[in-house]
Amino acid sequence: MADTLSNIDPRDKAEILAQALPYIRRFHGKTLVIKYGGNAMTDPALQADFAEDVVLLKLVGMNPVVVHGGGPQIETALNRLGKKGEFVQGMRVTDAETMEVVEWVLAGEVQQDIVGLINQAGGKAVGLTGRDGGMIRAQKLRMLDAKDPSIEHDVGQVGDIVSIDPSVVKALQDDAFIPVVSPIGFGEHNESYNINADVVASKLAIVLGAEKLVLLTNTPGVLNKAGELLTDLSAREIDALFADGTISGGMLPKISGALEAAKSGVHAVHIIDGRVPHALLLEILTDQAFGTMIRSH
Ligand code: ADP
Ligand code: MG
Repeated sequence: MADTLSNIDPRDKAEILAQALPYIRRFHGKTLVIKYGGNAMTDPALQADFAEDVVLLKLVGMNPVVVHGGGPQIETALNRLGKKGEFVQGMRVTDAETMEVVEWVLAGEVQQDIVGLINQAGGKAVGLTGRDGGMIRAQKLRMLDAKDPSIEHDVGQVGDIVSIDPSVVKALQDDAFIPVVSPIGFGEHNESYNINADVVASKLAIVLGAEKLVLLTNTPGVLNKAGELLTDLSAREIDALFADGTISGGMLPKISGALEAAKSGVHAVHIIDGRVPHALLLEILTDQAFGTMIRSH
């Protein structure tokens, strides 16, 4: 990292730093919800960069809220138990045993890793699941087949968000803490639900009145059929991509959530490549446009 930076002309470095000022001013005191993708967070160097970025944003006066996924880590844990993950329309089929693994991996391992890295970078992170502060109420997701809505898929304990009470997140923010949220909700009978992290990030951004929602993932953004990056997308274009099957798997809940957030008043919604070092800083503090921006109409 230091090596690559020392090759940059000092004037260019100064230029890059100066560029950040209008963004720092614009986003001061604003809430930024950041989804840290399971697939973009398996590399230790990238994880450390991410934690530094979050701390920097907090120190210049923004309110970052992190929602994390954990697909690859859950997959590894399931494989260790001799189980194989199964997905329907981008959602993980979650039987009771899988739910135990999901809770244990997300809240016990992944969340605490992120909290540790942020704290190491000089921030004060607090890990939460949707149970904490009664934040995320959920119910069983009724998943209808995308092509034939008369078919309903049983995806087990996958949750559909009923409501989000953001007061615990707000209280932490006001006290200089950085909330790190695991996407687990609770039901009427205190049962646990596995909720897609993109869906949680999108709904949380809406209820917090966030300025920005940034979804870090493991592709350059949304790609067309030819594999080319789509730099921005309107609701109509998204409908067409759904209809012709260009968007599939984990990109389905990501785009649906992103679009809902854009339509519900979150000013800027971006899907970006979390495999790029310091992707978050580039997205928030520079003129550099990358990834896919989701428009509200
Ligand atoms: P994350 O952990 O970031 O949520 P997911 O695997 O859930 O990752 O979702 C991202 C994946 O969605 C990509 O790696 C890709 O395989 C898939 N995908 C499906 N359709 C598209 C598309 N049109 N453009 C980009 N990625 C897509
Ligand atoms: Mg996903």
